[in-house]
Amino acid sequence: MIDLHIHSTFSDGKDFPEDMVRAAIAMGLQTVALCEHVRQTTGWFPEYIREVQRLKQKYKKIIRVYSAIEVKVVDLAGNIDTRPEFFVADIVYAAVHRVPLGKGEFCSGQEDRKTLKSNWLSCLRAAILHNDHVTALAHLFLPAIQYGLEINKSDIQNLAQLVASSEKAVEISLKYGHPAQDQFFYLLAGKVPFTIGSDSHSVQEMLERKQALEIAWKKWGRFCECRIDRAGSG
Ligand SMILES: [Zn+2]
Ligand SMILES: [Zn+2]
Repeated sequence: MIDLHIHSTFSDGKDFPEDMVRAAIAMGLQTVALCEHVRQTTGWFPEYIREVQRLKQKYKKIIRVYSAIEVKVVDLAGNIDTRPEFFVADIVYAAVHRVPLGKGEFCSGQEDRKTLKSNWLSCLRAAILHNDHVTALAHLFLPAIQYGLEINKSDIQNLAQLVASSEKAVEISLKYGHPAQDQFFYLLAGKVPFTIGSDSHSVQEMLERKQALEIAWKKWGRFCECRIDRAGSG
């Protein structure tokens, strides 16, 4: 089993990276990715990479450890809040946490559903098409869940087609599941790599999501990317 999305104290997680890795080992995972929120202003990135390298080495006989960053999509043009030197991380997730409104503003959620949905889909589309260094898409349906947006069959088909053409991996998020997601993943199965992420921010959350992880792994594991061979990733 894999969990390619867990946060540690480097960003907003509660437990140290090594504690998260040890929890992953105790759960019997083969691969784990420490995933941290970064911004252009993030200063701790070199220490983070050093710590992941240390853990990769220390536990290499037991578990594969990856570095991952979660970068925010900040506008309707799909720009992401990060720096090029952060792209050395093994996995670069793009995530829409807030739906952009334009002119540096974000939707408050009070806007009409139509605006929210169209802005969400536009920024997602732009982010997928214009960021070559992004390797995976985290919790793609989060805004739809947050704002209760209706997603119809053609939205799912269009999104799946777009993701398939981008060859980016898509995350099966254990934290933000959406009723429409299975349909989406069925359309993409075998076309792009899947990742599974619990988005845990503590060892406790990892344990709470263990059962959901087992179910997701049973269902989608054969489509998951478990090896990321990138030069220098150790
Ligand atoms: Zn996120
Ligand atoms: Zn996250």
